[in-house]
Amino acid sequence: MPRLQAALPYPRDPAATTLPAAFARRTAVVTGAAGFIGSHLCERLLSLGAEVIGVDNLLTGRLDNLAGLRSAGGFRFQTDDVTRPFTVAGPVDFVFHLASPASPLDYARHPLATLKVGAMGTLNALELAETKHARFLLASTSEVYGDPLVHPQPEQYWGNVNPVGPRSVYDEAKRYAEALTSCFERTGSTRTRIVRIFNTYGPRMRADDGRAVPAFLQQALAGEPITVAGDGSQTRSLCFVSDTVEGLLAAATADYPGPVNLGNPDEITMLQLAEEIRAMTSSASVVTFVPLPTDDPKRRCPDITAARAHLGWEPTTHLRDGLRQTLVWAQKHFPLQAATPGR
Ligand code: NAD
Repeated sequence: MPRLQAALPYPRDPAATTLPAAFARRTAVVTGAAGFIGSHLCERLLSLGAEVIGVDNLLTGRLDNLAGLRSAGGFRFQTDDVTRPFTVAGPVDFVFHLASPASPLDYARHPLATLKVGAMGTLNALELAETKHARFLLASTSEVYGDPLVHPQPEQYWGNVNPVGPRSVYDEAKRYAEALTSCFERTGSTRTRIVRIFNTYGPRMRADDGRAVPAFLQQALAGEPITVAGDGSQTRSLCFVSDTVEGLLAAATADYPGPVNLGNPDEITMLQLAEEIRAMTSSASVVTFVPLPTDDPKRRCPDITAARAHLGWEPTTHLRDGLRQTLVWAQKHFPLQAATPGR
C-alpha cells in the first residue's frame, strides 16, 4: 500500500532531516489521534515511515480527520477510552499521549472526562509505555501557567492557576499529568518527555470549538459580527500546527526530558487577530465585544529558549501564511451559520 504524504508543507530544517531515521520502521501509539493535532501528528509520522496506532474515543475528535490515513499503509485505528487500561498488539517504540479535550468550550462541556483523561488516561498511557519499553511523550499545555504573573513564560515558572475555577479541570489535570510523568521518569521506569504546547491553530480545528482562530474565521466567512472577548487587548501566541508537530517529534527524539515550551513567541492581541482575519477574508463583518470568560489569561507568550537549545526547534510558519492555509480549509469545511464567540 502507498505511504502517506503529509498534506501540510513541513520545514526542511536541520531537526527535520534527522527525523526519518528516528521514526522509519518504528511503531508509535498516538492517543487522541482523531483530534486536531493528533491527526496531523499521525500523518507526519506515517510520512516519515513509522507504523502508527491511533487510539481515540471520539469525545472531541472525528474520524473524518483520519479519512486519508485509514486507507494508507502503516496505520491502525483503535477505538478506546484511555481512562480505562488499554493495550495494543505488538511492540511499541513511542507513546504520544495527546488524548484530552483541549478547547475551553470542550472542557467546560466535559469537565469530569477532562480530569479523568489527565489523571487516569495519563497513568494508563504511561503504563502502556512502561510495559512496551517505549518512550513516552506528554502533550501538556501552557495552561499549567494559568494567568501568568511572569512574562514571557519560561519552564521554570510554576504558574498562577486557580485550583477551583472553571478552567481548573483542564489546568490541574495537566499539572497532575506532568507530576505523574515526572514520577515515571524519576523512578527510571520509563523514559519520558513533557512538552507544554501553546495555542496551536490550523486546518481541522472545529468551527464550534470556541477558540479564536476558527471562531473568527467562521464569523468572518458567514458575515456575522466577529466577537472579541473583553476589550481585545489580551494576547495569545499562535503556532501553526505543522510547527507544533515538528516540535513534538523533535522532543520525542531529543535527549532532554523537559518540560519544554512549544509555541510561537510572536504575540498578537485578539483585536489584531480579528482585524487580520477580517482583512484576509475581505469580510463585511463588524467587530463586537463580549464579556471575558472567567480566569481568561491576559497574556500568553512562550519563552522558547529551551526548545531552541535542547530540541533545535523553533516555529517557521508566519502567522499570515498559516492563517491562509487555515482559511482555505475553513472555506471548504465550515458551515455558514451563526458562530461561537471566540476567545
Ligand atoms: P482535540 O480535542 O482536537 O483532540 C483531542 C483528542 O483526544 C480527541 O480526538 C478526543 O476524542 C480524544 N480524547 C479525549 N478524551 C479521550 C479519552 N478518554 N480516550 C481516548 N481519546 C480521548 O484537541 P487538540 O487541540 O488536538 O489537542 C491535543 C492535545 O494537545 C491535548 O492533550 C491538548 O491538551 C494539547 N494541547 C493543545 C493545544 C492547542 O492549541 N490545540 C494547546 C495546548 C495543549
